Amino acid sequence: MKTSISIGRIMGIPIKLHITFLLILPVFAYFFAFSTVNIMVFTLGFGDAASLTVKCVFGALAAVLFFVCVLFHELGHSYVALRHGTKIKSITLLIFGGIASMEEIPKEPGTECSIALAGPLVSLLIGVLSLMLFFFLYQTTSMLLYVKTLFGILAFYNIFLAGFNFLPAFPMDGGRVLRAFLATKTGYIDATEKAAGVGKIFAIFMGILGFLLLPGGIWFVLIAFIIYIGASEEEKSTVVAVTLEGIKVKDIMTPGVVTVPSAMTASELVDFMLKTKHMGYPVFDESLLGIVTLNDVRKIPVENRINTPVRDIMTKNIISIKSGMGAVDALKIMVKHNIGRLLVIDNNALVGIVSRTDLIRSVQILR
Ligand SMILES: [Zn+2]
Repeated sequence: MKTSISIGRIMGIPIKLHITFLLILPVFAYFFAFSTVNIMVFTLGFGDAASLTVKCVFGALAAVLFFVCVLFHELGHSYVALRHGTKIKSITLLIFGGIASMEEIPKEPGTECSIALAGPLVSLLIGVLSLMLFFFLYQTTSMLLYVKTLFGILAFYNIFLAGFNFLPAFPMDGGRVLRAFLATKTGYIDATEKAAGVGKIFAIFMGILGFLLLPGGIWFVLIAFIIYIGASEEEKSTVVAVTLEGIKVKDIMTPGVVTVPSAMTASELVDFMLKTKHMGYPVFDESLLGIVTLNDVRKIPVENRINTPVRDIMTKNIISIKSGMGAVDALKIMVKHNIGRLLVIDNNALVGIVSRTDLIRSVQILR
């Protein structure tokens, strides 16, 4: 399922909007249009405005500009990353902000640190500029009053975003700075585990605080949950990526794959599976034709299995890889297509099979 749409490119990077972003944008617009929250000198919303048109126009404007600022935050990370030679695959805006997905996370601590700091610094810059414009318009009474409120909203949320991201907890940007700092003293995996640990502890405290402040604290609970998941994911993916670095598919694949002929019937296949205890087989005559699994057999009624050849039930568009591919990339393909095994094909010849279990076992052994 396609979960995001592309809206264009900036600095050569595809900008995408995630489905959750498209759902949350009207909620933000509604919130800005019809609520009024006073914090310090700021009025965060147009709920006090006399006309409905003003509420709707400025509410929508505030929501859109807020996410444009988030986009600038991500572009800040991307700009510095590109200058250090790290490619950016895409920038996606989603429910809780933005993600700039890098081709690989730079393991040079200095580089990681500058990329991580660039985002919050951009937010801080936008925040301070908006704050100056806010105070410039502070005494105004006319229609500019709403423009002042708008700058107040941008100032408040951008400075908040910068401050929040400076927290030294994964998956916030400050967590990356912390990891970069720790990585100068210890190994990269150790540094990641420690930084993720700090992120989790932070999330737990935030969650507890949220529960104490219910019902308003529900937002804290939600953010704490996102931070906890983010920290765990970052930890897991880093451990796998670093451990499997330099490992090729040919180092971990199972060679000498058992195949079945396309003329074998479904009932013969079931007997064959019972004997060999494997759930899936490549179908091979002169060349590779497809892959057949127990699930394919299940779709055929038992009485028809005796005269149904596997060529009629096999999956034909198989995803295959080359033996020289990196193990991490193979894992990424499996996760993306949600499949458990990949056939390894070199020069039209089936040379092996690699499964998710093989990859997970390799990580356990290599650590
Ligand atoms: Zn950031």
